Amino acid sequence: MSAADRVVALRRQLEQAAHEYYVLDRPSLSDFEYDKLFRELQAIERDHPELRDADSPTARVGATVSESHLAKHEHLVPMASLDNAFDETELAEWEERVRKLVGDAVDADGYCCELKIDGAAVSITYRDGVLATGATRGNGSIGEDVTANLRTIADVPRHLDGKDWPAVIEIRGEVYMTFDGFERMNAERARVGEPVFANPRNSAAGALRQKDPRETAKKPLRFYGYAFAVPGNPALPFRTQWELLETLASWGIPVAPHRRACATLDAVHAWARELESALRPGLPFAIDGGVVKVNQLSLQSELGVVGGRVPRWAIARKFAPDIAETTLLDIEVQVGRTGALTPRAVLAPVEVGGATINYATLHNFELVAEKDLRIGDTVQVKRAGEVIPQILGPVPEKRSGTERVVAVPTHCPVCGSAAVRDEAEVATYCPNLACPGRRLEALAHFTSRDAMDIRGLSHQRLEQLIAAGLVEDAADLYGIRAEQLVPRKGADGAPEGGVPGFQAKSATALVDAITASKQQPLTRLLNALGIRHVGAESAKLLARSFGTMDALSSASVAELEALHGVGATMAQAVHDWFRQPAARTVLDKLRAAGVRMDEPRAQAADGVFKGMKIVLTGTLPTLSRAQATELIENAGGKITSSVSKATDFVVAGDEAGSKLDKAKELGIDVLSEADLLARLAT
Ligand code: NAD
Repeated sequence: MSAADRVVALRRQLEQAAHEYYVLDRPSLSDFEYDKLFRELQAIERDHPELRDADSPTARVGATVSESHLAKHEHLVPMASLDNAFDETELAEWEERVRKLVGDAVDADGYCCELKIDGAAVSITYRDGVLATGATRGNGSIGEDVTANLRTIADVPRHLDGKDWPAVIEIRGEVYMTFDGFERMNAERARVGEPVFANPRNSAAGALRQKDPRETAKKPLRFYGYAFAVPGNPALPFRTQWELLETLASWGIPVAPHRRACATLDAVHAWARELESALRPGLPFAIDGGVVKVNQLSLQSELGVVGGRVPRWAIARKFAPDIAETTLLDIEVQVGRTGALTPRAVLAPVEVGGATINYATLHNFELVAEKDLRIGDTVQVKRAGEVIPQILGPVPEKRSGTERVVAVPTHCPVCGSAAVRDEAEVATYCPNLACPGRRLEALAHFTSRDAMDIRGLSHQRLEQLIAAGLVEDAADLYGIRAEQLVPRKGADGAPEGGVPGFQAKSATALVDAITASKQQPLTRLLNALGIRHVGAESAKLLARSFGTMDALSSASVAELEALHGVGATMAQAVHDWFRQPAARTVLDKLRAAGVRMDEPRAQAADGVFKGMKIVLTGTLPTLSRAQATELIENAGGKITSSVSKATDFVVAGDEAGSKLDKAKELGIDVLSEADLLARLAT
């Protein structure tokens, strides 16, 4: 292939990858593969100046934003990307280039080394210290306006602390997700059949670019700041990158840990080595390297930016990925609590990122088919930090022809029932409500920390309780007596009956924990019941809106759907669940056992809204209806549904309709979310 043809092919491939990565948040290449192709293109363009093009991916930042669903935002000062150094030699070459341009001046303040947070870059504009707008990087000049979404992130301050900030300042940083948050979000997406995100970066970028800020608010997003831009040339209260970070922190902007000021290149190398081997494995969030910056800001300006794309004064010191190859020995089928049959990869043990891996999650069979994983394949496995290991894909060149394609299961591996396929949810289910596999998972969910929170019931314990015939469904837990758990001494001295391992004390402790859980509020009980599409957040919304199990169980689909935050699918699922005979039986048993079926109202005798009647209308910028209700009720207020003379005030958001008109007509105070929060703070 000629160089010209290769350039065309590479550009096409990189553009496609950048679109998938930046716009769809669903990359099909790993960063490592992308960087390899990018460098190949850079090398050809270097050797063939006639093939250079201002529109080449090597001459641009990010991806085009023309097709975004979000409004466009023009940055006051453009946002650049970073060049990469993959090893010490490349880092030394960068340092040499810097020295060539500014000489030994660089020695005065050395380098500032920072974590390279693997998230999505944002620029947040503060005017007079108040958050005004926020945008993604986009193509560097024009990003997407994500102000409402950024406002839902607790780490992003609404007001800067202190006083020494410039009147207009763009604070740049990274929106990211912790490994924990990422795992939780992906598990939930897989459960409802949405495509899972490849990594915390894509997951954070996707959450940040949601159309509806209420969706963003549900995602565990975090923020770290590391740079600023100011239009014009105002006096700044810092002289070096190091001082800049300290100043950002003093203004209330979270700044990433483990930064280091290094006087020499050797010290920078040592920091990078320590970062890769010692610090990175323990971090709760993903980094894809470190960033080394010339510390003195005046030298940064002198060095400038190359072609509007990458600064000369900074470089990303990237790590080799934690990827290993191993054999896919089998794909097991696991039964979840909703009956979903999910595949799990069994691997020949392999060490990746400091841990030995035997299994990897695969989420659903669609994904297995999409990646074309076959039993016997050599596969690439990746692990970063504490994330559950992922299979990147097979290595088709290493196939011998004996690999086996796995079929979607036709039967439940535990009870043998014929599996059913739910097209809407891309999942395959065991439909048998009495399936022991489902039952065990359902019980484990019922007792889990976010649900009824009954301590002392591991999977193994629950299996034992089932085997001993003590429980079939969750309600049976409440009938267990301590003496049923403790094995008796048989005639020959051997233990008889009961559940292995229980003694009088542990048995009483478990029964006490079960009894205590009867007082859990409706929110937890609803989550515990494992209704499809109802997770912890929706359970809270339903419990707060309906107040009692009776009210919820008799709600029509239309009434459910009328709630903010409940879509058609969830409304139908909730409605149908209450109409299943098995569900009714469990509810009756739980009720008979004395399990609480209502949501306690907050007792806030002295709250700022004590005795007030308050109406909520429209969509608030950051708070969900359930959150606003909770805040108001905790402050002693009562939410009422219609505006009358007795209403004390109305809290109105976007698209407020007739209630707002009525309030104006009656001369009742109308508060914005910010007013509400300000009054709550008094
Ligand atoms: P980059 O991610 O390599 O580096 C620049 C970015 O680093 C900045 O924009 C900023 O967001 C971030 N950053 C994090 N911590 C920082 C800190 N302390 N100081 C300064 N910046 C910091 O560059 P990019 O232009 O965002 O993306 C290019 C990279 O994205 C590629 O190298 C590749 O790894 C990845 N990519 C992958 C695919 C794919 O298909 N897998 C496609 C496109 C891009």
